[in-house]
Amino acid sequence: MKIDAPATIAVAADHAGWELKDRLAEHLRANGYEVIDLGTNGPESVDYPDFGEAVGSAVAAGTAALGVAVCGSGLGIAMAAGKVAGIRAATVYDETSARLARKHNDANVICLGARLIEPERASAAVDAFLGASFEGGRHVPRVHKIGAIAERGDGTARRIGPTHPRSTTWAPKNDPDIDAVLSAELERQMTTVQLIASENFASPAVMAATGSVLTNKYSEGYPRRRYYGGNVNADTSEQLAIDRVKALFGAEHANVQPHSGSQANAAVYLALLDTGDTVMGMSLDQGGHLTHGSPVNASGRLYNFVSYGLTHSDERIDYEAMADLAREHRPKLIVAGATAYPRRIDPVPFREVCDEIGAVFMFDAAHIAGLIVGGVHINPVPYADIVTFTTHKTMRGPRGGTILCTQEYAKRIDSAVFPGSQGGPLDHAVAAKAVGFAEAARPEFAHYQARIVSNAAALADALGSHGFRLVSGGTDNHLLLIDLRTFDADLTGKVAQEALDAAGITLNRNSIPDDPRSPFVTSGLRMGTPSVTTQGMGPAEMAKIAEFTARVLRAPDDEDVIAQVRAEVAELCAAFPPYDR
Ligand SMILES: *Cc1c(COP(=O)(O)O)cnc(C)c1O
Repeated sequence: MKIDAPATIAVAADHAGWELKDRLAEHLRANGYEVIDLGTNGPESVDYPDFGEAVGSAVAAGTAALGVAVCGSGLGIAMAAGKVAGIRAATVYDETSARLARKHNDANVICLGARLIEPERASAAVDAFLGASFEGGRHVPRVHKIGAIAERGDGTARRIGPTHPRSTTWAPKNDPDIDAVLSAELERQMTTVQLIASENFASPAVMAATGSVLTNKYSEGYPRRRYYGGNVNADTSEQLAIDRVKALFGAEHANVQPHSGSQANAAVYLALLDTGDTVMGMSLDQGGHLTHGSPVNASGRLYNFVSYGLTHSDERIDYEAMADLAREHRPKLIVAGATAYPRRIDPVPFREVCDEIGAVFMFDAAHIAGLIVGGVHINPVPYADIVTFTTHKTMRGPRGGTILCTQEYAKRIDSAVFPGSQGGPLDHAVAAKAVGFAEAARPEFAHYQARIVSNAAALADALGSHGFRLVSGGTDNHLLLIDLRTFDADLTGKVAQEALDAAGITLNRNSIPDDPRSPFVTSGLRMGTPSVTTQGMGPAEMAKIAEFTARVLRAPDDEDVIAQVRAEVAELCAAFPPYDR
């Protein structure tokens, strides 16, 4: 959180600190701050934890932007304030420690010891604290880790504690065949490791909305502009989803009706392009998505897609070659975004070349929308004209798609979704999107996203130590791509995927850049950490998963090894159940 000019400061102290606290409150008021004085206001003995909690709670609730607390040493009251979720309380001694607490640790409460610091120095420390701002950058993931500790609490992350994961309101006796399928699928999800980078475990609240009465409703049109009656509740639900997602991303306009990511992309193309128009996207075999112009997809059949890709040297997006290609082909639309790219995507070079040639810039954030909301990937919304994403990948909501755009494109996008390419929206999915967006607005969601990234880094390190080469040498997002050729030149992605599946490790084979094998066979594997992170696994578990993977792939035909790993996988999963049974 960045606060440049905090208007309201909460102050509190115990009996040893109240006089200094009063002086600091006076000092703050003299400098134009609004002060909330939470006491104590006299020498009678009180307990510092009560006042530490009070100041922490005022800041956590947003009543005050920052807090200042005083006790005899500044230590106990800091311990108490820091226990409030979202509070980073630091004991400071002078201007330097106060400034650093804010710049590096994003402290939102500082604590002073009335017995240890002169009043002038205390005032100067408070000024230094308020005058500094959080530097961000390398400090962001570290500060997120502080929050993640609180979230884990007892050493395991807080789970999103479901009640009836198979289904929410449905009586299994209605259909024993499908009930058996759901039971078996729950069992599979609970006892095997899910490393498919596009998957996640939705919360019970999301699943409850998905299985709700809104599935019965027809609501063609948009809130308060429907073609059917009886939409009072559907309107409220869709408007909530729209307002919440706009706030999450800072977008001017949102359409929450696309049934999927592919539908969202198709609607954007329909809104902006005529058949045969030139478009640019990342090629499928370098990490792009089917809907970015693959010949087997409608996008590739209806539009003239020109593909950009990666550099040979470091296997990152070749931004210069992309811009040269754009100057040469002058596409109407340039699509950024990928489905198997383990690095951050910089929107700036895309924006620049789009401005240069007069193209529209669309960013497909299907995989990384959650990372963006969590602050661990640059937000493309300020740069792109249009951003599409799926709600079920790192966003951890229901299956579906969403389109964000500037006001300039709002009407065209809405018309292209309905009536252009869809009929009635899936109102139950729209309600579930609203639930998911509210979950994503909580501070825990940012901690969760930071853990996804740190888990991917830990998994990458551990795989490297077992002799796997990773495409681009590692990852800075939620996924990684293994190049199997250096581990075992004869091992294909297909054989590796099947052996790991048998051992209870679920992932998908994936082409690697310039893969000599066909897309059906491949020389690579893709792994992602969103699901295992939702389960509460951490770096130690990532090391285990890497070791399991190496053991299986060293002997992909050995049934004893596979059986042994499968048993160990089941043991690991039992310790991190995604759902309560
Ligand atoms: C997953 C994905 C999509 C498509 O999402 P669906 O909901 O499966 O249609 C589109 N673009 C990218 C980059 C993706 O990763």
